[in-house]
This record gives sequence, structure tokens and C-alpha cells, in this order.
Amino acid sequence: MDNADATAGKVDSSMARGARPKSLMRTCVGCRRRAAQADLLRVVVVAQGDRYLAVPDGRRQMPGRGAYLHPAHQCLQRAESRQAFIKAFRLGVPVDLQLLRTEMGAGDVGTEDQGGTDGEEHAMSAQR
Ligand SMILES: [Zn+2]
Repeated sequence: MDNADATAGKVDSSMARGARPKSLMRTCVGCRRRAAQADLLRVVVVAQGDRYLAVPDGRRQMPGRGAYLHPAHQCLQRAESRQAFIKAFRLGVPVDLQLLRTEMGAGDVGTEDQGGTDGEEHAMSAQR
């Protein structure tokens, strides 16, 4: 009567298939919030001569490492001020974000007077 036959032989494959979320979640390099990949803009970096250009990859087809960003100025600015792209792409050199700005329809801002002075930005990078 002692059925010591514990049916423990059943390998419970914990590789739960079909349990993956429908939409991939990514972290915005600007606000660091997670969002569905579909809601974020993929950004890749392209070398242009001796500098690097951040390029919006709307179709998500470009090769290489990608970063994800909300298509919002706020997030772009945040990413810029904390040098998120440089870190995301492990470049160690500045990344030109002009194309990204254009893509997001910058120029609407209007308050920026003749840029050029690349002086000091917000000293609020104390967040660590
Ligand atoms: Zn964001």
C-alpha cells in the first residue's frame, strides 16, 4: 500500500511558451520609463566622417544597436542633457541629434534664439 511512487518525474518545463507579452517593452532613454516598443522611436547611430549622427529609424530596419525614445521633445532633451545616447551606444563622443530634432518637428519651439553658444546647460544633472 505504500505507493512511494511520487510522480515527480514529470519534468515541468518552465519554458512557458506563449507567455511572452505581445508588445515588446523598451525603456525610453529620455525619461527612463518603459513603454511598448511600438510607442517609441528607434534611434540608431550612423558614423558620418568623424562624427556620429543619431538617426530615427522609423521602420526599425536599420542594423546595429538601437536606442528607444519617446517621440517627444521632452524626452529628447532629457536624453541629451544626460548624454543618454552616448551611453546607449557606448560611443564616448557626442552624438549629433539634429536629425532627431528635425524628425520631431523642432523649430516649433521658437524661444531658442540664434543658437551657437554651446555654453552651459542645466546644471541639474545631480541626479544619480
Ligand atoms: Zn520618454
